[in-house]
Amino acid sequence: MQIKNYIRDIQDFPKEGILFKDITPLLNDPIAREESLKILLDSLEGQKIDKVIGAESRGFFFGMLLAQKLNAGFVPVRKPKKLPFKTISAEFDLEYGTDSLEIHIDAIKKGDKVLIHDDVLATGGTAKAMCDLVTELGGEIVQCNFLMELSFLNGREKIKDNPIFAAITY
Ligand code: IMP
Repeated sequence: MQIKNYIRDIQDFPKEGILFKDITPLLNDPIAREESLKILLDSLEGQKIDKVIGAESRGFFFGMLLAQKLNAGFVPVRKPKKLPFKTISAEFDLEYGTDSLEIHIDAIKKGDKVLIHDDVLATGGTAKAMCDLVTELGGEIVQCNFLMELSFLNGREKIKDNPIFAAITY
């Protein structure tokens, strides 16, 4: 079973010049999904995790599966003004301008062991913002993990102080 075979390339999505890696074939196959989950879990080597943080929206899929298997809480990190309770936010750079992500202030307790998850590590802006949110709330980042790393975009440089794992690297 090669989980890479379940990632589909979409040329010029969401805009011209971008080769988008589409994970929906993988989500649609229970065996590929189980194998991906196993690879992500094995990388943790049994380390204790209190909270899994998933980035909106594709980070929710495996974030929730990981949390369930790890017997950990699941915490959504969302785009501005989506979360109903009190939040803190972290900004990150886009190609043009900035964006931000938010987390509930009570989602992580000081000293919580946190696993940060997203589907793709590209330029690293999203992951860095998640790291900043967790750190601000006093959480300890155990690992940042991703289904896929687009290594040519050098995103890991932005989060290099943390252990990083990707199930697939391009
Ligand atoms: P970054 O902030 O540049 O690292 O981009 C990562 C975010 O963009 C993740 O939340 C991904 O869901 C999304 N993303 C970037 N490139 C792709 C892709 O090729 N396929 C799916 N999602 C992508």
